[in-house]
Amino acid sequence: MRLLLVEDDTMIGEVVLDLLRAEHYAVDWVKDGTMAETALQTQTYDLVILDLGLPKKDGLEVLRGMRARKDRTPVLVATARDAVQQRVAGLDAGADDYVLKPYEMDELLARIRALLRRAAGRAEPQFEYKNITINPATREVAVEGTPVTLSAREWAVLEALIARPGVVLSRAQLEEKLYSWRDEVSSNAVEVYIHGLRKKLGSDLIQNVRGVGYMVPKL
Ligand code: CA
Repeated sequence: MRLLLVEDDTMIGEVVLDLLRAEHYAVDWVKDGTMAETALQTQTYDLVILDLGLPKKDGLEVLRGMRARKDRTPVLVATARDAVQQRVAGLDAGADDYVLKPYEMDELLARIRALLRRAAGRAEPQFEYKNITINPATREVAVEGTPVTLSAREWAVLEALIARPGVVLSRAQLEEKLYSWRDEVSSNAVEVYIHGLRKKLGSDLIQNVRGVGYMVPKL
């Protein structure tokens, strides 16, 4: 999953960035509202963490701009504990949820998972596909109840595909979910992860749609 972190406080930003990367999210970090707008218009994200007090362009303005462009990316706004009016304004401007600053890291991660789950049209925290069980919170995967260990990037590919069975994702779309700006993308990486997943989870799980990309078939 590819996330955009919009946070102007360098110290807080670094902590959150490390935390999110440790959770295997691909994260881009920008520090003002103008850069946030540019990032949002050039890249597709699965979720945005948006601080509201930002230089150059206010977070609320960024959010209103997104919704005016019909950009439906889930947005988690971050506000100070006592800034009730800001939270209300954020939610009314199209935010999906909010977090309080200073961040409670476990809560931040849980809210991110909840929004990603809802964005994929699911309510249940754990999901099943045929004989495979997947738990995004613990990143546990099991086949017929037997745990399977996946690498961080295999997990990211699996999560992207299995969240929307029947939807074909191109290699470029999968790469977007795997890498942030700072990462170097090796040319056959996606194929390597798909190969690993097929070996671990069964050869018929991920289908190759010739010339288009990959998908997990609809059940
Ligand atoms: Ca700020």
